[in-house]
Amino acid sequence: MNQKELVSAFKEIGIKAGDVLLIHSSLASIGEVEGGADTVIDALLKVLGAKGTLLAPVFGALGVIPDKLKARPGALVSPCPVGTLTGVGPAAAALFKDHWKADTVHGENTPFSRLAAKGGKILLLGCDQDRNTFLHGIEAQLELPYLRECTCSFEVNGKKITKTWPGYPGPHRDFIGIDRRMLESGIMTIGKVGSAQARLIDAKKLLEEGKKWGKEDPAFVLCDNPACPDCVEQRARIFAAEMGKEAFKLAMSSRLAGRYVPEMIENLHACGIRCIELDYVQGKPASMMPAEKLAAAVKEFSEAEIEVTALRLMAVPADPAKFCETLKKAKIKTVLLPGNASPDAVKAFRKAKITVAIYNCCQSGVELAARAAELKAGTVLDPAAFAAMGEMPFLRSYRNGRFIKHMVQLDVNDALFDGTAVRLAKGNGEIKELVSINRCRNFSGVLTLGAGVIYPATAREMAADFAKLLKEI
Ligand SMILES: [Zn+2]
Repeated sequence: MNQKELVSAFKEIGIKAGDVLLIHSSLASIGEVEGGADTVIDALLKVLGAKGTLLAPVFGALGVIPDKLKARPGALVSPCPVGTLTGVGPAAAALFKDHWKADTVHGENTPFSRLAAKGGKILLLGCDQDRNTFLHGIEAQLELPYLRECTCSFEVNGKKITKTWPGYPGPHRDFIGIDRRMLESGIMTIGKVGSAQARLIDAKKLLEEGKKWGKEDPAFVLCDNPACPDCVEQRARIFAAEMGKEAFKLAMSSRLAGRYVPEMIENLHACGIRCIELDYVQGKPASMMPAEKLAAAVKEFSEAEIEVTALRLMAVPADPAKFCETLKKAKIKTVLLPGNASPDAVKAFRKAKITVAIYNCCQSGVELAARAAELKAGTVLDPAAFAAMGEMPFLRSYRNGRFIKHMVQLDVNDALFDGTAVRLAKGNGEIKELVSINRCRNFSGVLTLGAGVIYPATAREMAADFAKLLKEI
């Protein structure tokens, strides 16, 4: 292609005189161009005219067109060591002004947000959304929880400055995944320049729509490949941030989290859950662990920033006072006992300053409430166990037992009336009703995923099931 042919192709795809245009490009994909990158730049500047401005990112290895544009007489470079742009044309100075002083590299008061405000356009010439740095501006403006910090030392007018910007993009992303959405919502058109596809995007519309998409789903530019460690971690940060807004504390049972402690930690981190309830470890009740091993496990959790909310006992130990020593050595402060625990056993735990709560095993809601009053203990509501004894966990157990008065934990599980454990909201556990009503009163106790019964899915599937349930409420 020669300059004349390029000029008509650029006009054809919708570039107009006076436009402010940010270009990402792959020169090779256009095909053979007489004079190479300079001819492409000349053609673009000719279409844009004296009132138009041409911009390109120069941060990272971005190709020959940005380098050639930067070398043009009168080219400016935005004064920021990251997210840097170069530009030729009358709008460049105002777009680039004090770029480094902005709160984030790509967000408000940067060339990216100013490009949108000016009604500018983005051209992806022979490359895809993966290269679209403007999308980082949407992530930054949304303050997405997975974004990180970036620190740089650089010089401004001979003065050395070190600055840290939050809201910096993460390692992997799936910008390609929103390409179709951009096309279908009329933000973008796709034309052809030489043999290259040319995507022309309205920056203002993209910013507005993109912010809506991100508010609906903060993971909108992350991939959902479970084998992508970057996006698993970034999604976990989103989940943890969302759970941080809830009044309840979210935990997972150790049996669901994994067989061995390192596996449990890995799964909890991948799920974005920061608390664990010890029920079974290595296929046995946690109460069977030797004192040293239990203490070592709790220490390992704490070093991984995971809090142990409680130890759940399947039966009251023969010598509660002795077991309290084991708990104290491990720094475990709360035990959950079956609802038929004797007053003497509860007294022994209390004497050792261990908090006791009781869960329903074979009691009705009313019976458990009566036991709790007698023992002066809090209650744990296990919906699967209530359903399996034929009592509707919300309509009967919760209401008749007045759990609102004494409940300290809700086991997040589900089961059929015949006792079969099923996935959340697929059984008779009325778990959706129980979560909803307790959310309405800002219940500040613990919600433990997979407690009380074996969950018929993996830890990560359970976390996703719970996230889905919350979204539906
Ligand atoms: Zn990914």
